[in-house]
Amino acid sequence: MRNHVDRLFPPQPPEPAPECAICADLDRKRATANAEGDYSRASDCNVLLRQHGKHAR
Ligand SMILES: [Zn+2]
Repeated sequence: MRNHVDRLFPPQPPEPAPECAICADLDRKRATANAEGDYSRASDCNVLLRQHGKHAR
């Protein structure tokens, strides 16, 4: 189970875009989830951050 998740989500977490409020919100939620040990929620945030990563810069 855990190996399956690790394969889907590589260890490098996506970086939030500095000027994006949505990315900042996801980054904060991810930090909260990690702090609470809720790694499935943290992974969800990583997925959303990665999907949201196409910013025009
Ligand atoms: Zn964003």
